[in-house]
Amino acid sequence: MLKIENFIDGEFKSSINEEFLDNYNPATGEKVGEISSSGPRDVEKAVKAAEDAFFGWSSLSMDERINWLEKIGDALEAKKEEIAKVESLDTGKPISLARRVDANRSITNFRFFAQFAKNQEAQIFEMNDATNYVHRKPVGVVGLITPWNLPLYLLTWKIAPALVMGNTIVAKPSELTPLTANLFAKTLQEIDFPKGVFNIVHGLGPSAGQAILEHPNVKAISFTGGTQTGRIVAKIAAPLFKKLSLELGGKNATVILNDADILQAAKGAAKAGFTNSGQVCLCGSRILIDESIADDFTKHLIEEIEAMKVGNPQEEDTDIGSVISPQHLEKVESYIQLALEEGGEILTGGNRPKLDKVNSNGAFLMPTLISGLDIKSRTATEEIFGPVVTLHTFKGDEEAIKMANSTDYGLAGSVWTSDLQRGKEFSKQIDTGIMWVNTWLHRDLRTPFGGVKNSGVGREGGQWSLSFFSEMTNICVKND
Ligand code: NAD
Repeated sequence: MLKIENFIDGEFKSSINEEFLDNYNPATGEKVGEISSSGPRDVEKAVKAAEDAFFGWSSLSMDERINWLEKIGDALEAKKEEIAKVESLDTGKPISLARRVDANRSITNFRFFAQFAKNQEAQIFEMNDATNYVHRKPVGVVGLITPWNLPLYLLTWKIAPALVMGNTIVAKPSELTPLTANLFAKTLQEIDFPKGVFNIVHGLGPSAGQAILEHPNVKAISFTGGTQTGRIVAKIAAPLFKKLSLELGGKNATVILNDADILQAAKGAAKAGFTNSGQVCLCGSRILIDESIADDFTKHLIEEIEAMKVGNPQEEDTDIGSVISPQHLEKVESYIQLALEEGGEILTGGNRPKLDKVNSNGAFLMPTLISGLDIKSRTATEEIFGPVVTLHTFKGDEEAIKMANSTDYGLAGSVWTSDLQRGKEFSKQIDTGIMWVNTWLHRDLRTPFGGVKNSGVGREGGQWSLSFFSEMTNICVKND
């Protein structure tokens, strides 16, 4: 049985109260371990360790910190298969997905920010009689709070830029998925990473997470999670004038215009809707289809969905694993019930699959497509975050734009068309942080990433991450 402890000042330690939370494999229902259930006193220790380590870490040159990032990237690469296995076990996601997306990206995050930081040029503004030098200082101790859907992927997306800019860290991974963060801490220990620079406090949001938010010496909070939690985070952090980055929920539209390649669009919409059992904040959980091609498209879409293999995440050819927990499964199923009450028709799925013994107690749901719902219905506007997608028809681009913009969220979306210029112009009118034309989840890490409306505040990625994790100051030197 695994015992997951906090990682503070380079050492693994149980929470002071010695209380533990159970950790389950959602694909089997088995308990795999226990994790420390921390509170403010543990956070206090972690913040103290991070403060003590700050001077040493921030005094290193940028090149020295870049070397550390490269070393971490190499150490993670050596454990790539282990990361994929552990992530699959903890989340119930297919091993192939955990390898291709989670493990790969966790390694890439370090290599990308190492290279990106190397390419930074000094910003200098000349005046007639003076020169201005823009200087970036680290913020200090930063708090990183992350969700369960892409555990190490999202945590390292924050750790790498925070470290390279000279900050020290107190992190709180989701209590549902602590395993890869723990593996990451072990990896740091193995490569003799400086103690106290990176710390983990495990536990529940309202105790461990909130104590990080409330700590006066944590100067910035980078949070990824649900919109409701984001509100709490903002409420606590804002009066303390902490730097704040909020990456929140979404209800993204996949829009198929009347000139789209129907087969390509059906494949794209199925992938956008059901990757990671629909538990990616960027998933296209509403499909909007031009009514002139709706019948043909729907037939192909259903074929694509029904071809997905649902089952044991450890098998290489599994496309869809479990959702994160039995509680989450019930929540997702309650939306299917709601959809029926709201007049929806289930075109495929809607039920739990019958699986072999090992997965018979897992939190599985067949990928579900529902049509016939009003675009303003609760099912079509609230984030379900599971393998449930709604399908809606529109007449012409103008109506499609209105429908795509008809939720409180604004994270992402995709549009499918054979006219790239039309796709680009259409995208400009959608209120989201990112739009893809004829693709989905195609990411260049230099680009801005983040949401509008209730999907968040601030941007991550390339320059935006480096700016968030630094304080920019100006030094104006008068010429002789
Ligand atoms: P969540 O908001 O429940 O939890 C996220 C993290 O916040 C967890 O570590 C949790 O323990 C912590 N937390 C909970 N309450 C807290 C509190 N009061 N104070 C401090 N911390 C607290 O989200 P989740 O269910 O883990 O993740 C799913 C959500 O995350 C979805 O809404 C999804 O859209 C969103 N998400 C967004 C992005 C993005 O980039 N915008 C990426 C991934 C996931």
